[in-house]
Amino acid sequence: MTTRLLIVGPQGSGKGTQGVRIAEGFGIPVVSTGDIFRANIKNETELGKKVQAITDAGDLVPDEVTSEIVRDRLGEDDAQQGFLLDGYPRNRAQVAHLDEFLSARDEKLDAVILLDVPRDESISRILQRATEQGRSDDTEEAVAKRLSIYESETAPIIDTYAERGIVDRIDGVGSLDEITARIVSALEARGLVRVAV
Ligand code: AMP
Repeated sequence: MTTRLLIVGPQGSGKGTQGVRIAEGFGIPVVSTGDIFRANIKNETELGKKVQAITDAGDLVPDEVTSEIVRDRLGEDDAQQGFLLDGYPRNRAQVAHLDEFLSARDEKLDAVILLDVPRDESISRILQRATEQGRSDDTEEAVAKRLSIYESETAPIIDTYAERGIVDRIDGVGSLDEITARIVSALEARGLVRVAV
């Protein structure tokens, strides 16, 4: 049984938190491009140096850089039985890259989890995260930039996946457990099987 998922939602939708829970339940690794970039910045790698100013400004790292990182990560052993992508693809060009990569392996995404959260709610969650975690890209300008990129570039990719019939729109307001349960039941309705409770 393989499970290949993508979780999408605006910043502050809780997709990072829910992604970890869902990946654990289905026995697959989370592949988060944001986490990969943050780890590289922290460790001061070449990649980290290249992307720091871009991520701090809330801009997108160039597609070729990001897609190569994802290709490498998905080639690792633990991703052969599936994965949960968080933060990639984020625009149409990345969707095309991912399609090409997966179809060459005779694979495809099983489901796209779209976390639906009203704008006010997601903004208040980001402000809370900014005080709790002190992320260097949670400044007011960077947050506004990320939100506008989400609306103009990322939201449109949902239509592409919806045409394929693989989008599960999940109400992202409620307790963490309630939201996880909603996602799990949508995935189970597609015949995807959990490994852990
Ligand atoms: P995130 O944690 O997903 O909000 O990502 C943090 C930052 O990493 C973003 O604001 C971008 O600068 C960069 N990033 C993450 N994923 C991507 C992607 N798929 N394409 C381009 N840049 C990305």
